[in-house]
Amino acid sequence: MGKIGRNPSVNRSPVGEIPEAIRERPQLAASRSFPWGWLILAGVFSLLTLGAGFLLTRPNRAPDSVNREPEPVASPALENVLGHLPYEEAAPSQLKPITADGYLKLRAAAAEQFLAMQKAARAQGIVLAPISAFRTVEQQNQLFFAIKQQRNQEARKRAEVSAPPGYSEHHTGYAVDIGDGARPATNLSPQFENTPAFRWLKENAAKYSFELSFPPDNSQGVSYEPWHWRFVGDRDSLETFYKAKSLPPAQN
Ligand SMILES: [Zn+2]
Repeated sequence: MGKIGRNPSVNRSPVGEIPEAIRERPQLAASRSFPWGWLILAGVFSLLTLGAGFLLTRPNRAPDSVNREPEPVASPALENVLGHLPYEEAAPSQLKPITADGYLKLRAAAAEQFLAMQKAARAQGIVLAPISAFRTVEQQNQLFFAIKQQRNQEARKRAEVSAPPGYSEHHTGYAVDIGDGARPATNLSPQFENTPAFRWLKENAAKYSFELSFPPDNSQGVSYEPWHWRFVGDRDSLETFYKAKSLPPAQN
């Protein structure tokens, strides 16, 4: 390689592509017969341009040899698994039942507002039927992986309709899946959108501080879930869903 080093313009080219004779010929002699020098310069320039273009367009990450630290996350909104954000599991003492059998529970503030909303709907002939509320990470584990296996689904496909364990809003105790008690066939189906219960919720849920988590074309890329509502009526719930997540509020 020492010989090649004498000619700086040649030195930066992929050496293998340049015939030995040309590499060793002095530039002055070469220019007399054929403008090899210019040709090589043009080649080097093209390579440099391509290289610069590549550096500018590739993702901004340090090579592993330079930085072995875990890569800093550019924005907390990017901290997700298949579009789902991480959530803490509510403590049992924070939960209150929303069904007579005590099986379904929400955080106290959300439970209170859900029951008030259900009562107001009932007064207008609408039955808001809770289907699922607080879930432990272990329950979500079952829901995600057991059904994924049962349905022979790939993780990416499963995540379009279910959050991976640790990444469900149901862990927080603020999220509730709601059905129309008079139309159970539409439970957990996009068809729920066409029920009187959904229409009532669209009109009235905000009054009780419930909002759709996954409206059509939501920023998380999760499938539209007209049945899945979350409580955002106090500081803790607001922080849970909006603090430092840089996600725009649902557009309704
Ligand atoms: Zn849900």
